Amino acid sequence: MAEAPDSDAIAQIRAAVRALCAKFPGEYWRALDRERAYPTEFVQALTEAGFLAALIPEEYGGSGLTMRAATAIMEEIQAAGCNGAACHAQMYTMGTLLRHGSAEQKQKYLPGIAKGTLRLQAFGVTEPTSGTDTLSLRTTATREGNNWYVIDGQKIWTSRAEHSDLMLLLARTTPREQAKRRTEGLSVFLVDMREAGGLTIRPIRTMMNHATTEVFFDRMRVPAENLIGEEGQGFRYILSGMNAERILIAAECIGDAKWFIDRASSYAKERAVFGRPIGQNQGVQFPIARAYAQMRAAELMVHEAAALYEAGRDCGAEANMAKLLAADASWAAADMCVQTHGGFGFAEDFDIERKFRETRLYQVAPISTNLILSYLAEHVLGLPRSY
Ligand SMILES: Cc1cc2nc3c(=O)[nH]c(=O)nc-3n(C[C@H](O)[C@H](O)[C@H](O)COP(=O)(O)OP(=O)(O)OC[C@H]3O[C@@H](n4cnc5c(N)ncnc54)[C@H](O)[C@@H]3O)c2cc1C
Repeated sequence: MAEAPDSDAIAQIRAAVRALCAKFPGEYWRALDRERAYPTEFVQALTEAGFLAALIPEEYGGSGLTMRAATAIMEEIQAAGCNGAACHAQMYTMGTLLRHGSAEQKQKYLPGIAKGTLRLQAFGVTEPTSGTDTLSLRTTATREGNNWYVIDGQKIWTSRAEHSDLMLLLARTTPREQAKRRTEGLSVFLVDMREAGGLTIRPIRTMMNHATTEVFFDRMRVPAENLIGEEGQGFRYILSGMNAERILIAAECIGDAKWFIDRASSYAKERAVFGRPIGQNQGVQFPIARAYAQMRAAELMVHEAAALYEAGRDCGAEANMAKLLAADASWAAADMCVQTHGGFGFAEDFDIERKFRETRLYQVAPISTNLILSYLAEHVLGLPRSY
């Protein structure tokens, strides 16, 4: 399959990720999928190879790579049939700490996160009642004396909470009606879940193997020194990390789309029905060709967003479009791949139905398609805010 041109360094990273992923074939993922078990060995291998520390600067022990290199890592994982959702947050959740944390906080946590001895891959934002409307979240953090905050409330879809030491948590510190601005009054905390009392984590079984949970806080005490940045400014800090998350997840979708297209074209060449390969029929080859064109277009937007991000320029629109187009491309490719395989598309042993379930998520999380369209309508096209 034709690929976008890469620098030599990125080509080497791709080859290294591919070699690592080759040790984790379909059988590995199928066994975990059946049990809804966490891919501990896979995550360990990625950690030891330093891939999850790609975006942490070298001064903190990370690899200090570019966003484009990080997207290549995530893309290759998915294109190999593996599932980076088990650990992608270790790569980008630390961005909030890196950009808004104090020098002491960065020194205390980033080297461990870079090594992988500290896992920061739980991100507590979504709540059952507020959903996409983050500003309506109800979890509160109340100051207790000089040294503590007390957290009460609930989060939902807090993925990997059982496989993380730390959680980046967004909670309300000022009642909504008392906040100076609509977007103020929320604060971000780095919660050390290993020592937090009053924390209950309950797994949620989902259609794919995702290690997601709901989390309950009952007077959970967090040291005041674990507040990131200024109290009340948390929403802004969380938003500033969204572009990286969107670009990286868009890259995962590109990897998924490549995997589906590769599987479909191989199968269409081999499978003979009516005495000829099914891929000789335009009814079979056109959907594969269309999925390929769609994937390549989305890939260009991922590269555009990553380039703007690296240049320190505003990339909100491009990061959102990359996520939208790439999620659409992976979902279209998934559907096409099942269709190309006929009945075998549904057989567990082909991995297609598993990847199909896995890639469906990206129409909804980490941001749903509709919310991206609303963002573009309002912020790019100047249309009235719809909600
Ligand atoms: C497997 C999984 C893992 C996740 N991991 C995490 C995580 O680690 N941390 C975390 O904080 N969250 C996580 N999420 C939550 C995820 O970000 C949300 O599910 C997503 O943002 C949608 O929010 P919601 O489910 O509350 O849907 P809702 O907000 O209830 O929306 C439901 C539907 O209505 C649509 N909708 C809502 N409002 C509007 C509007 N104004 N205009 C048009 N359409 C609208 C949405 O697009 C959506 O399709 C995860 C979710 C899943 C399923």
